Amino acid sequence: MRKVHAGTEEVAREVQKPDEQWRQELTPLQYNVLREAHTERPFTGEYVNNHADGSYRCAGCGNKLFSSDAKFDSGTGWPSFDEPTVAEAVELRSDNSLFMRRTEVVCRRCGGHLGHVFNDGPTRTGKRYCMNSCSLSFEPAAADQPGTASG
Ligand code: FE
Repeated sequence: MRKVHAGTEEVAREVQKPDEQWRQELTPLQYNVLREAHTERPFTGEYVNNHADGSYRCAGCGNKLFSSDAKFDSGTGWPSFDEPTVAEAVELRSDNSLFMRRTEVVCRRCGGHLGHVFNDGPTRTGKRYCMNSCSLSFEPAAADQPGTASG
């Protein structure tokens, strides 16, 4: 069932596509998460234990969201970050579904649901951006960039 966020459905997005097009471009799981705000099962996503250097982009529109530098092991089964690459890349909104008071994180560019953010992060930011792997697309750092060479 589609979750309607009152008052936010009319927001004009830089990337807007008809629902049918999203269905064609995304995998069924990605569609359910990005467009219907479902949550992937913990410990099933491909980026939970990814420790490679690089960037995490929105799987819906390619918007650069998180750097591997911001990633930490939260033990929750979902890839977790302490801050977005650029604050404006994401949009936060209150989510009172499932009898919980949470803060939803969506991609500002396409409106895709990414996950939630919590205030129990272990680093200086105090934030834990709890993301769905399938909402993200990992882009490895270029091999010729300084600091990425392995010995
Ligand atoms: Fe996006």
